[in-house]
Amino acid sequence: MRFLVTAGPTREPIDPIRYLSNRSSGKMGYAIAEAAINAGHDVVLISGPVDVDPPRGAELTSVLTSDDMFDAVHEHLHDCDVLVMCAAVADYKPKQLSKTKIKKRDADLSLELIPTRDILASLPKEDRNYVVVGFAAETENVEARARKKLEEKNCDVIVANDVSHPDFGMESDENEVTMLFRDGKIKKIARSPKKIVARELLKVFANVCEKRLTKKIS
Ligand code: C5P
Repeated sequence: MRFLVTAGPTREPIDPIRYLSNRSSGKMGYAIAEAAINAGHDVVLISGPVDVDPPRGAELTSVLTSDDMFDAVHEHLHDCDVLVMCAAVADYKPKQLSKTKIKKRDADLSLELIPTRDILASLPKEDRNYVVVGFAAETENVEARARKKLEEKNCDVIVANDVSHPDFGMESDENEVTMLFRDGKIKKIARSPKKIVARELLKVFANVCEKRLTKKIS
């Protein structure tokens, strides 16, 4: 199977020096890419700026902004069987990019932000011949919010994680996740190293893809 995996944060520039971003380390997405390679799949990894070494054998495309990631996903989408949108794409970006460094002054400064383009929401809703996996990092009402995202963003699977725990999840080597499926089923993966979580997730994604392919053939 061909996996297209996005990972890491995006950076939304304010001026040549400053940007808006988030605390994604990229570890979960990179672990999923590695698990896919180890299971014998082809992997294209689209990554925001991270400090993790890319897994050997992945075709890496490095991006910075949400717009770069949007374009890269759409460029590779047609050659994939499973899209895993693990990246923490910024939800907002500055309305204006200052070409020169914004000078410090003795006054408050307001930044006007606009929503970024939502990559998942931009995908075709019907007749897709690939499986779409979204991620939902939440700090409250985790399952309910993830279920809403699954519907609104038209994903086949959504992986929810509670990022309110200080000792695992974001930036950590461990994670605990819940997968939600379109038929209402739920599957939890208990707290474990991200590489183990990735292996379990990978098996499920490949299974969903396999089922879809068999359905198409029969
Ligand atoms: O809405 P929220 O950002 O929490 O949704 C998370 C999911 O949506 C993730 O899978 C993320 O990669 C994806 N996303 C996206 N485009 C955006 C923002 C998030 O595809 N602009």
